[in-house]
Amino acid sequence: MRYTEPKERSAELLRLALAQMGKHSAAYNPLTFTLWYEYVAGTNARLTAAIDALTAQATVIDDERVLALCKQHVFPANEESLEQVRSTLERLMQGVARTAHETSRHAGDYGAKLSELNSALATQDAGRIQPQVDDVMAGTLRMRASVEQLRSEVESGHQEVNRLRMELDRARGEAMLDPLTGVLNRRGFEQHLQAMLAEHPAEGCAHVLVMLDIDHFKKVNDTHGHLIGDRVIQGLGEILRATVKSPRGTAARYGGEEFAILLPTTSLTESRQLTEAVRARTKALKIRNRSTQEVLVTVTVSGGVAAWKPGEAANDLIARADAALYASKQGGRDRITLA
Ligand code: GH3
Ligand code: MG
Ligand code: MG
Repeated sequence: MRYTEPKERSAELLRLALAQMGKHSAAYNPLTFTLWYEYVAGTNARLTAAIDALTAQATVIDDERVLALCKQHVFPANEESLEQVRSTLERLMQGVARTAHETSRHAGDYGAKLSELNSALATQDAGRIQPQVDDVMAGTLRMRASVEQLRSEVESGHQEVNRLRMELDRARGEAMLDPLTGVLNRRGFEQHLQAMLAEHPAEGCAHVLVMLDIDHFKKVNDTHGHLIGDRVIQGLGEILRATVKSPRGTAARYGGEEFAILLPTTSLTESRQLTEAVRARTKALKIRNRSTQEVLVTVTVSGGVAAWKPGEAANDLIARADAALYASKQGGRDRITLA
């Protein structure tokens, strides 16, 4: 789900969003609310950066800007490609339907001619039979052309449908990915988690969930700005993609500066080693000034590791991994705790 804030927190966000809406000129409609809600929740970094850039220049956010910002940063980007697939399919089906209709009309005429010939044959009137035979011959040729046309249209339709299917698969895959880091997004995480928990782990192994959260990340943003913050998030994304490879496991951006790792059928020792590797690599990550190469930021990450108890609800597993993560934070951060 896109919004996971509990009621109390959402009420606070509602107040904050209303305050922002009051400062700008756009109408108080659901679109404007969505925009400011995501802004004050801090869950949509690109949107936040775009709004911050506008307000830094004292730009008033009007209806037109709300629409543009929502299109760019709030709604899934591949709506357009789905629309394209839909309209191409529609065109394709209309073409095939038209040819099929033509073919059946020709088949009807052809059938009528055949029965005329049949009755001519019955009368055995030679003078009547010859023109009927000619007519049937011509009809046969038309019929063959029409069927050939239909066959080739169905054939190219098949190819087109396959191409569209691949395009849809790609769009669907993209809809599961976080654009900033290239790991799964929240939607992808939820789908992979459900899939993992749908099967029981092999004997002696467990399905393991790891939750990770960058330490004192707010300070990174406050000191260096959101763009550098984004580079830290990207850096952790790269570490995760290099460390957690399919089929061993899958990494996801759970939200903001929180990540998750899904490790189906793994031992706790192996899970711990892998998570420790992510922790150590994150600590060694250096975000540098691109021109001077001066190191601007280093960060650490805390983690919680929980093994699924067969039958346990996904949310309970997440809560246990989260509690272990919280214990890591309480224990001084830059550490991994087993639930
Ligand atoms: P802790 O060690 O307890 O986790 O402290 P923290 O500062 O990391 O925790 P907190 O949850 O208070 O702050 C997280 C911050 O991450 C707040 C939010 O503005 C920022 N953030 C969330 N998503 C993004 C993003 O995509 N980009 C950037 N630059 N910042 C983000
Ligand atoms: Mg956090
Ligand atoms: Mg944090």
